[in-house]
Amino acid sequence: MRIDIISAVPDLLESPLNHSIIKRAREKGLVEINVINLHDYGKGNYKQIDDYGFGGDAGMVIKCEPLYNAITDLTSMRNYDYVIYTSPDGDILDQPMANTLSTAENIIILCGHYKGIDHRIREHLITKEISIGNYVLSGGELAAAVITDAVVRLIPGALTDETSALSDSFQDGLLAPPIYTRPADFNGWKVPEVLLSGNPKLIKEWQEQQALERTKALRPELL
Ligand code: SAH
Repeated sequence: MRIDIISAVPDLLESPLNHSIIKRAREKGLVEINVINLHDYGKGNYKQIDDYGFGGDAGMVIKCEPLYNAITDLTSMRNYDYVIYTSPDGDILDQPMANTLSTAENIIILCGHYKGIDHRIREHLITKEISIGNYVLSGGELAAAVITDAVVRLIPGALTDETSALSDSFQDGLLAPPIYTRPADFNGWKVPEVLLSGNPKLIKEWQEQQALERTKALRPELL
């Protein structure tokens, strides 16, 4: 898989893309991630990419030209399954969407900034708009990092124990059961007996029942 992220503030992506599971997936060659600095497509000494919005609203808008050039430079080189714009009014990211995106070969993620981007780019070049929740961020970089993380960990081989993604919350429509590690007794706080039984069938039954109960109690709309 290849993910190209277009950003006006590429430094914001530096840490999330270079640690832990994403770092290892990149090292293993499971995913190639490139960050493109939108300012490289800007004009003049200041590499300007924004301008005042028409209509007199306060706030700057990212201009068509740098966005157009950055996106078409990429799309002229290869086919992209998705040209994504991170936007608070997009489809809200969830596990089924992450699963679908993880099967793509090439993805562009465009991060907005300021008031957002010129709407004509959204109309003509963007093929999918994704929100990471009903709140407004200062820029799309954190959203792009969230999308990338949710997707990359699903690529086979990205997690050291591949099956562990399958037992995570949402993957089977349920929240994950509670988890514990040693010691079995911490200052009198005990791990549920069944987990120490060594009986895989009983343990699985208990985990399934807990997952169901937690989902009913905390997120009934998932059922
Ligand atoms: N004026 C816009 C918000 C701009 S916020 C509006 O009212 O809808 C600046 C940028 O941050 C956006 O262009 C978008 O790329 C990103 N962003 C903000 N909130 C986001 C969210 N919830 N999900 C994904 N991206 C978001």
